[in-house]
Amino acid sequence: MQLIRQRVQALISERPVYKDILTYYLRIRECQEGFMGIDPTPIFAKQDQRDMTLKEAFPIFKDELDIPLRRAFKTFEAILNLSVDSNPPMKEKAERILELLKTSPEELGNMFRKVLQKDYIKKRAKELGLDFHFLDFVLENSLRPDIKAWIHGLGEMRFDAWKKAKCPLCSSLPLLSLIRGEGGQRYLVCSLCTSQWDIERIYCPSCETKDQSYIQYFFSEDLRHIRIYTCERCKAYIKTIDIRECGQVDLELEDLATLHLDIIAIQKGYHPLLPSPWLPLGDSRQPHPLIC
Ligand SMILES: [Zn+2]
Ligand SMILES: [Zn+2]
Repeated sequence: MQLIRQRVQALISERPVYKDILTYYLRIRECQEGFMGIDPTPIFAKQDQRDMTLKEAFPIFKDELDIPLRRAFKTFEAILNLSVDSNPPMKEKAERILELLKTSPEELGNMFRKVLQKDYIKKRAKELGLDFHFLDFVLENSLRPDIKAWIHGLGEMRFDAWKKAKCPLCSSLPLLSLIRGEGGQRYLVCSLCTSQWDIERIYCPSCETKDQSYIQYFFSEDLRHIRIYTCERCKAYIKTIDIRECGQVDLELEDLATLHLDIIAIQKGYHPLLPSPWLPLGDSRQPHPLIC
């Protein structure tokens, strides 16, 4: 955690425009880290779930996230409380959701279990008068400590035969891709459980083309290790970090501190593979939905 704190400070000095976002993000990471210690026992996956994923290329969780929730409710409340201390629009969104936690914990348990079904979360958010993007963001971040413990219980897993766009464990879309190793192997990184699985170097995780003529990339001269891979076939883009150039970094933090590259991609007419809660919706001149 100390390394993340130092990196956040360095990034804020380098790119002051990210101060609010990174400060808020750091508080969430500290909160998640704090709840990791509650029950350090790994959550073990059932053997048949493991086997099916490895042998038959079938994700462990597709519709429902069936893991014991040991910390999720507490983490949820803590993230909302720290959001209440943030700016006024977020305070209001957070207070409404906190009300849900008090009046209907069963509803929240249901949402945790169905977090992979974004249409369901969106529908319930609308019915309950809650901000979907913020609710989904808090749900996913509250689940992280339990998911981490569950992954720890899975032990070493290699996904050599997977080669798909969605995560082999939780079927979520990737947050970004990375390139590492001597041969420059490319991997996708899950947006929810942070698992990594290898894919072809030339591959669009949106339309799944492997046709070289469609895939291009651009980068900023001062951040040469971060490339935006674009696809001319479906107009999606995905951020890609070349670990060979920058060494081991915290992927989520680096992604967040380079939102300006996402905005350039959107202005060039591409759309993110996975809509980010930190990114502006539609018109990129609007403040982004989480910090505004
Ligand atoms: Zn996953
Ligand atoms: Zn594509």
